Amino acid sequence: MNRILVTGGAGFLGSHLCDRLIKDGADVLCVDNFYTGSKTNIAHLMVNPYFEAMRHDVTFPLYAEVDQIFNMACPASPVHYQFDPVQTTKTNVHGAINMLGLAKRLKARILQASTSEVYGDPEVHPQTEDYWGRVNPIGIRSCYDEGKRCAETLFFDYHRQHQVEIKVVRIFNTYGPRMHPNDGRVVSNFIVQALKGEDITIYGNGQQTRSFCYVDDLIDGLVRMMNSPAGMTGPVNMGNPNEMTMLELAEQVLRLSGSKAKLVFKPLPQDDPKQRQPDISVARRELGWQPKVALADGLKETIAYFKKIVA
Ligand code: NAD
Ligand code: UDP
Ligand code: UDP
Repeated sequence: MNRILVTGGAGFLGSHLCDRLIKDGADVLCVDNFYTGSKTNIAHLMVNPYFEAMRHDVTFPLYAEVDQIFNMACPASPVHYQFDPVQTTKTNVHGAINMLGLAKRLKARILQASTSEVYGDPEVHPQTEDYWGRVNPIGIRSCYDEGKRCAETLFFDYHRQHQVEIKVVRIFNTYGPRMHPNDGRVVSNFIVQALKGEDITIYGNGQQTRSFCYVDDLIDGLVRMMNSPAGMTGPVNMGNPNEMTMLELAEQVLRLSGSKAKLVFKPLPQDDPKQRQPDISVARRELGWQPKVALADGLKETIAYFKKIVA
């Protein structure tokens, strides 16, 4: 049986990944400090003897015996990663060192959940993996952006120096059920506001763009990447190239939820990237992967989930 460690396994993406790995017949160890994740995301898995949950902070060493590691631990929403920025950098950097040390000792494969944020506010559009990015090293997003960039450096140095088998995935905005209702990210904010009939908060003029990938598509990509040939280290972009403005997203959410909520405009947060769209040619070519779920379908699933939560 494949023994797989998922750090951040009680979070939004991590819990969906645990579901998928259990379904595929793996023995899963979920490690989480429950900072932004929750037991409700994994409660349904607790009855399974091949699923184990452990409360642990990855900034501290971890000794366990596994064959593969998915390193997902890190708050992903700007509101949460900026709440305790020093801890965010520690999670990214010390967490990566500990998990890489573990992978090195075990000769285990390790996948890093990196991010489109390594490109910062990009001048290259859509973003390709060979673009080095435009990141502010001292801004309020830096704990996350630079933390994730340093983690990528560590992954490639453990690979070159210690022959650790690495897989680096740059994840672009992903949404779906189990996002935290107070997560602060745009899709969950807009849906919760629409369902409660509260004002929809558009930051800035709403002309900034993002490209949204449904969670099932992303999880399928992560699993494909983990099981790709050893030479396939990445970095590889994963996301849905379907780009839109935040105003367009708000209109879709209002239409699909049948809400009459009004739009209000709030200040644009510092260093908020103006545009973002993944170039996924590498994932297409090397992994035969591309997203399948249309935004309207994914939003309907997500709205249905939040209807239960908000009620
Ligand atoms: P999330 O906040 O729902 O999940 C993160 C999980 O990590 C939570 O369960 C949290 O409790 C846990 N965690 C945080 N710090 C920890 C620590 N020090 N030790 C142990 N556990 C810790 O966010 P998510 O959207 O599921 O993101 C998962 C990963 O994917 C993150 O690394 C994030 O940077 C990356 N990512 C996500 C997106 C996205 O759009 N969802 C985009 C790019 C990258
Ligand atoms: N580590 C861990 N579990 C292991 C092996 C290592 O958590 O099974 C941690 C350990 O705390 C160490 C880090 O990973 O600080 C990096 O390990 P590495 O072997 O690269 O460095 P060293 O132990 O030589 O400092
Ligand atoms: N955003 C918004 N209203 C909100 C939350 C976010 O207009 O209630 C904007 C935010 O300024 C950014 C985009 O939506 O331009 C995506 O924000 P999110 O925090 O989801 O992700 P990230 O900025 O990390 O891509």
